[in-house]
Amino acid sequence: MSQHPITKAIRTQTDRTNEMEHSSPLFLTSSFCFDNAEEMRATFADETDYNIYSRFSNPNVQEFVDRVCALEGAEAGYATASGMSAVFASFMALLKKGDHLLSCNAIFGSTHTVVTKFLPKWGIEYSYFAADKPDTWEAAIRPNTKMIYIETPTNPGLDIIDLEKISALAKKYNVILNVDNCFATPVGQRPIDLGADLVVHSATKWMDGQGRVLGGVVVGKKELIHDIYLFCRSSGPALSPFNAWVLSKSLETLDVRMERHASNALQLAKKLESHPKISWLKYPFLPSHPQYDIAVKQMSSGGGIVCFELKGGLESGRAFLNNLRMLSLTANLGDTRSIASHPASTTHAKLTEEERLAVNITPGLIRISVGLEHIDDIAQDILQALEMI
Ligand SMILES: *Cc1c(COP(=O)(O)O)cnc(C)c1O
Repeated sequence: MSQHPITKAIRTQTDRTNEMEHSSPLFLTSSFCFDNAEEMRATFADETDYNIYSRFSNPNVQEFVDRVCALEGAEAGYATASGMSAVFASFMALLKKGDHLLSCNAIFGSTHTVVTKFLPKWGIEYSYFAADKPDTWEAAIRPNTKMIYIETPTNPGLDIIDLEKISALAKKYNVILNVDNCFATPVGQRPIDLGADLVVHSATKWMDGQGRVLGGVVVGKKELIHDIYLFCRSSGPALSPFNAWVLSKSLETLDVRMERHASNALQLAKKLESHPKISWLKYPFLPSHPQYDIAVKQMSSGGGIVCFELKGGLESGRAFLNNLRMLSLTANLGDTRSIASHPASTTHAKLTEEERLAVNITPGLIRISVGLEHIDDIAQDILQALEMI
C-alpha cells in the first residue's frame, strides 16, 4: 500500500550517517569531496547523483524538496532562498522575449512588481484577468501566452479560482499553469492533482509557520523543473542548508498546525461575520463566501487567513490596528502568533485609491493571519479593537 503524502513527508529523510542519528544532521558545507579524479569526472558529467556544491544541491535542501514533492504529489522540485526567488526563477527559466504571461489580478505585491516592472524590460508581455470573472478567462489567452500564473486563494482578498477550470484552459491552449499555493498549503490543496504543471511556495509563511526563516520552493513536472534547476544553479538563489533544515522539520507538523489555524480561523470568521462595524467578511469555508462551492470542492481546509472590510474605511483601518493589544502588526503571515494588517495604509499605501481598487484592496480591508493562540484570546482582542473604533 502506498503511504499517505503526510506520512511520506514525515518519513522522507537523508540517509543516516554512521552516527545513526534519528533526526537529520545539518550539512553546513559549501562543497563536497570526491575520492578520485574519475569519480569527480563522472559526477560533473551527470553520471552520478553525488552532490558537488551547495549552490546546486545539498542534502538538507534535497530533503526539504523531497518532502514538499511528497505533499504536493510532484515529480521534482528546487528550493530557493525566498518565495520570490522561486516565483522569479519559474518566470526566468521558462519565459523568453515575445512570450506572454497571463496572471490573475490579485497577486502578492512583489510578484506584481516583478510582472509589471521587470518582465516588460526583457520583452515579456503580461496581462491580468479578474479572478472572480471566470467567463472572461478564455478570451484573455493570446497566441503567444506561454504561462498562466495564479494564486488561489488570492492575497489579500481571498478570491477562489477554480483550478479544474483554469487547468482545462491551460491544457486546451498548451500553456504552462503555475500556481502559488502559499495560502492554502499542500495539506489544504493540491493543485497538481487538479492539472497544474508547477506549484510555487513561499516557505517563509505556513510551511515554517513560526516566523523564523525565509525560503521558497517550486515543484512540478520533471522537465520544467530541470529548466528551472539549470537557471538556478547558474544564477544562485539557493536555499541555505540551515534554513532547509528548519523548514524540513517544520513540515513534519504542517498538517496538525494547519488544522488548528483553520479551525481558529473558521471560529473567528463566524464570530465576526455579522459584527455591526464590519460590512463584509470573507473566509473560504464560510457558506457566505462568493466562491464557497469551489472552495469546498478543491480545498480540504479553508486555511488560516480571514479578511474583512471595516465600514469606516481608511481611518477605521488605522484605528483598528492601533487598538489591538495582542495581535502583532508585522509584514509576515502564517505564524503561530496572530497578525493583523491593513494593506491600504501599509503595503499598498503608495498606490492611488484607483490602483488599489483594481487589485481589490478596499480602504477598510483588514487581513488577519490567525495564529495558534487560544481562539478566545484572538477573538477578544479583535472584538475590543472593533469596539473602540
Ligand atoms: C510572502 C509571499 C510570497 C513571497 O515570499 P517570500 O518568502 O517573502 O519571498 C509569494 N506569494 C505569496 C502568496 C506570499 O504570501
